[in-house]
Amino acid sequence: MKETEALVRIQEIDLALMRSKSKLDNMPQAKKRLAVATARKKLAGEISKIVGIRKDADMDLEENEASHRRAEEQVEEIQEKYASGEAGYRELADLESRLSTLAKRMEKLEFKHGDLVAKAEVAHKRESDALALDKKLQMEDEALLESLNQSTAQVRQGIRELLAERKEVCQYLSDDVMARYEAAARRFDGLAVETLRASQPSICRVTIPASSFGDIRRGPSITECPYCHRLLVTDGMFDLNA
Ligand SMILES: [Zn+2]
Repeated sequence: MKETEALVRIQEIDLALMRSKSKLDNMPQAKKRLAVATARKKLAGEISKIVGIRKDADMDLEENEASHRRAEEQVEEIQEKYASGEAGYRELADLESRLSTLAKRMEKLEFKHGDLVAKAEVAHKRESDALALDKKLQMEDEALLESLNQSTAQVRQGIRELLAERKEVCQYLSDDVMARYEAAARRFDGLAVETLRASQPSICRVTIPASSFGDIRRGPSITECPYCHRLLVTDGMFDLNA
């Protein structure tokens, strides 16, 4: 490998490494996972409210049914006393009045019961719908995580291969050229090396006047662009890629 080839290749490798690192930082699955996490957090707040409403509805219904059962038991007790024939006239009148009060209470409870059952059903449905949605989001997140891990592993494998090739290619670069490349790469954000295509450097694309073109071609095969000061590879072999 010629040093000029190595220099051009090392820039390609470094740009590919930059792209891979940026890819790792901007995985679409990671962004989607954030959106899912936000949705689940919001949903968790709603679920705790929905569960509270459902518990209240269950409790209202249970209270209604328990009150009704107590009233039924009291009615039975009174009817037993009535049937025993032990109660006197005054007591009988009292028992009748209590039976009538209990009957009214039970009627009221029965009247409310249907509404309470409907409310509890609605509350249970809302809760199970919300929990099902959360489960769906959880599964979506698990799928995203798996896909993210796969993509990340692929990118990391690519990075390992590029780093191995970089090590190989570095062997063809002198310390001086390497130092110049690294300085230019920092200064020009990775775009440090130009090749000469026709009479234009490949990045700044300023046309070199015919008068100085010959001098540049005859000069060192790695020089500095007179316009943008990047490293300029004047080796004619890169013209083929133009
Ligand atoms: Zn230039």
